Amino acid sequence: MLKIEGLTAEVDGKPILNGIDLEVPAGGIHAIMGPNGSGKSTLSYVLAGREGYEITGGSVTFDGIDLLALEPEERAASGLFLAFQYPVELPGVGNALFLRTALNAIRRHRGEPELDAMQFLKVARQRMQALSMPEDMLRRGVNVGFSGGEKKRNEVLQMALLQPRLAILDETDSGLDIDALKIVAEGVNALRAPDFSALVITHYQRLLDYIVPDRVHVLMGGRIVQSGGPELAQQLEASGYASVQAAA
Ligand code: ADP
Ligand code: MG
Ligand code: MG
Repeated sequence: MLKIEGLTAEVDGKPILNGIDLEVPAGGIHAIMGPNGSGKSTLSYVLAGREGYEITGGSVTFDGIDLLALEPEERAASGLFLAFQYPVELPGVGNALFLRTALNAIRRHRGEPELDAMQFLKVARQRMQALSMPEDMLRRGVNVGFSGGEKKRNEVLQMALLQPRLAILDETDSGLDIDALKIVAEGVNALRAPDFSALVITHYQRLLDYIVPDRVHVLMGGRIVQSGGPELAQQLEASGYASVQAAA
């Protein structure tokens, strides 16, 4: 599904990714762990097509298609979802309209009919019930006055509605509380399917207590220096990244 080969990228002329090789098969949940500044967020931004990141070498294919040649919107429309992409508050923009607009953009791209407000509400209510989300989150402004946990729920709802084929979740270093971690994990676990893959990016091991990955990769200095099963995350938690560095 996702195949990254020899990917190098720089920001402001500074090399950040130094040759990443990674393959995530359909249905696979892979985790990327690594110390602060190792390039985890840069990798997720490069995959999403964010501006300011210059690809200097290598390739990324998504279902055999050259992902790096696509505009960010085309990447989203072809089934790539970057969580934590829209943490912004949008006062005056109703959350229902925001989510419906995002969903319809993808449906248009897939050649599916767009959903009108009533059709969207029906689908959204089903998904929200499945996620135990209060319905009033649809009526509020996008993220306006949302607690940290509500923002996470909203992202999970967005993901559940868009039904991506590859979700990239960058936990960032901001530190989600346990409740927020559980919300994210439940959302990802609910989407587990043979044609759904996820790349879970995290500095800490605790998220991986709830989303158990098939594979764990350690990113250091813009390179994957070690890969293993889920037990690798526990080892890292116990012994720290320095032990990997010493071995690498
Ligand atoms: P991580 O997510 O693993 O903590 P990042 O991808 O955020 O790492 O950052 C990797 C490196 O790239 C760091 O040294 C950081 O300072 C640098 N970096 C990231 N984004 C920028 C930017 N926009 N401008 C300059 N340097 C950046
Ligand atoms: Mg960081
Ligand atoms: Mg980061």
